[in-house]
Amino acid sequence: MSKVDTVSEFSEPVSKTYAKTSEGKLVSYSWPGMYPVFYSTADAEIMCPACASGENGSEAYLDIEGPPDGITDPQWEIVYAGIHWEGKPLTCSHCQCEIESAYGEPE
Ligand SMILES: [Zn+2]
Repeated sequence: MSKVDTVSEFSEPVSKTYAKTSEGKLVSYSWPGMYPVFYSTADAEIMCPACASGENGSEAYLDIEGPPDGITDPQWEIVYAGIHWEGKPLTCSHCQCEIESAYGEPE
């Protein structure tokens, strides 16, 4: 599990910046820039764009859209989106995939 200690420092509330694609999925890369985007749940777990979009058996939902069927589990509430600029890859807490940073690890 990769807990985010400093979520507020490098991410921002899910907003139009990270709008859904025409398929209804959350974007994987920012525009402009095409930088890798990650998502964070209300309990500060990292999620990849696919899991944040409800794939891989995820029950994630956006806080701005509200929970489906009254579910209010913070584990599935997507609150933040951010760009992973630099450093080690982040690990999705749901599917365990890695989200590479835009610039890799600093030397
Ligand atoms: Zn994932």
